[in-house]
Amino acid sequence: MTTTLHNRSAVDAHVHVHPKMVGTLLDIMEANNLSQVVNLGILEVLGIPFQEGMRAFRKALGERMVYLPAPEFRDTSPGFGERMAEELERKVEAGACGLKIFKELGMRHKDADGNLIPVDDPRLDPLWAKAGELGIPVLIHTADPVAFFRPLDENNERWEELQEHPDWHFAGPEFPGHDTLLAQRNRVIARHPGTIFIGAHLGEYPEDLAYVDACLDRYPNFYVDTSARIGEIGRHPVEEIRAFFLKHQDRVIFGTDLVLGCGVFDDRAQEDMAEFKHFYDAHWRFFETEEREIEYPGFPIQGRWRVDAINLPDEVLEKLYLRNAQQLIPGLQE
Ligand SMILES: [Zn+2]
Repeated sequence: MTTTLHNRSAVDAHVHVHPKMVGTLLDIMEANNLSQVVNLGILEVLGIPFQEGMRAFRKALGERMVYLPAPEFRDTSPGFGERMAEELERKVEAGACGLKIFKELGMRHKDADGNLIPVDDPRLDPLWAKAGELGIPVLIHTADPVAFFRPLDENNERWEELQEHPDWHFAGPEFPGHDTLLAQRNRVIARHPGTIFIGAHLGEYPEDLAYVDACLDRYPNFYVDTSARIGEIGRHPVEEIRAFFLKHQDRVIFGTDLVLGCGVFDDRAQEDMAEFKHFYDAHWRFFETEEREIEYPGFPIQGRWRVDAINLPDEVLEKLYLRNAQQLIPGLQE
């Protein structure tokens, strides 16, 4: 077994942190050797004014946090894509470093006529083009675990989790299927080769490494992050996972989906520090050791299975934890 565990710094490129939780975040970063974090879309989700949120982030964290705003779908009358593009440009001028897209695109956001807006709706093309023009990446979350699209009964492998979060269940006829949503996303990636897309949650198909592998081969402007899916990634035979991470060592970005504020870990900061340490250690253990049958980060929410660690070489870890994100996201420094 490898004995040195995580003696390097890392960027967590997928967090959602409320401005009131910046102090807790700083403690977490110090305790877990995180040099910088990429905070995604929280201001727009909570309706916190952009300037006010950015001021709070800067005051507490300076350059150690970069922020990616999410477009707001409140006004979807004609011209919404152009307006979102203009809004993005203004926010980038004011310090934003990318664009975050939540899974509601394709599943819940509707246009002014009440029709679902598909991910590849041409009315959004100005937004994707603008991100490319500004040289910023789009961190896009499309669909969700495959099980969330399957019937909800005790045969569903995410049964326990869906009991707690019934709003994560998308099997109804009002929702497009998992494959349909990913096909929509892929058409956007193909249509905008000058824009960088980072697919959250291993491109939202960690259940099928061959599918993600094919997407990465097909679209040179596509990248993926590891957030919240070590449990799924770790279910494949260890040599297959390792081969995937070695082949795509320039295309995979480390992120966790840490959430602070918004009802999760509100005001419980100090006693939770050990829990956060355990959470990050579970990531380092998966990527850096050869341990077998370990708990994935967040166990057992995704299911009561265990995973085998994949022991990546140092130079691959360096890319995963730091270099790949630094190359793609402005504001992350060496
Ligand atoms: Zn997330």
